[in-house]
Amino acid sequence: MGQVKKTTKANTKTTTKASAKAVAKESARATTTASTKTTTKASTKAITKSTGKVTGKTTGKATGKTTGKATGGQKSATRGVSKKGSHKATRQEAAAIMKGLLELYPDACCELTYDSDFQLLTAVILSAQCTDQQVNKVTKALYAEFPDARSLAEADLERVKTLIKPTGYYNAKAKNIQACAQMLVTRFNGKVPTTVEELTTLPGVGRKTANVVLGVIHNIPGWSVDTHVQRLSKRFSFTNEEDPLKIEKDLQALFPGEDWSKLSITIIWHGRRLCYARKPACHNCPINTICPASEV
Ligand code: SF4
Repeated sequence: MGQVKKTTKANTKTTTKASAKAVAKESARATTTASTKTTTKASTKAITKSTGKVTGKTTGKATGKTTGKATGGQKSATRGVSKKGSHKATRQEAAAIMKGLLELYPDACCELTYDSDFQLLTAVILSAQCTDQQVNKVTKALYAEFPDARSLAEADLERVKTLIKPTGYYNAKAKNIQACAQMLVTRFNGKVPTTVEELTTLPGVGRKTANVVLGVIHNIPGWSVDTHVQRLSKRFSFTNEEDPLKIEKDLQALFPGEDWSKLSITIIWHGRRLCYARKPACHNCPINTICPASEV
């Protein structure tokens, strides 16, 4: 936790249609359909606002200048994204890109604060459409009152909503995390299960969330295909797919035997710190000579 302070001061707020789909999917198992509908409707109206200041060895100002190299100079959130059927990276090309990123972020790790697997699971659900920093502020107060599944299962829902409100979409999220806690109590004796299959039966928990929890807590390798992994995987030509499950399969095939959890978190860090959705900071990016979506 906290390594971000070493090299980067970033304050990024990102709300895109793509990530709106992600939160809707992660929330699809929520107990209240109405809340989920509200989330999706609100999300699809959102726009993206990103600001970032990079310091240290990546010091410099990103210009977002487009040269058209490798991407045809698309000026949108999808610039640099591989088209369906276009070139896909070889294992050698993919390994070179990941080697560069692993060297850039040797300390990449989960930035959510937690004291137990239950707290991490809840924090990951709350992190949809929200920064980890904001989630950490909220969960500090939430876990002070409701530290485990049993206490959150029996909590007053309105109190939970109040506590998590700053994370956004708090109606759906509050129902999800309480329903999740209740199912943990009734079906899993208050414990967080350790398989993707069991985890994804919980309200608000999709494969992305399940893989984060299993990777961070149990070292079980898995790809966490969030909005950053989706965007960067396409920019790197790791995949031509849009569907997270198909992207996950492409990544599994491209990096057999690798630590998928570590690779996921490393890509997520790069997406948060340099390879932004709207204006990737290609001028400051150490892998801009081998990235197929580089704009320099
Ligand atoms: S050069 Fe770097 S910042 Fe630019 S698209 Fe590639 S990975 Fe992202």
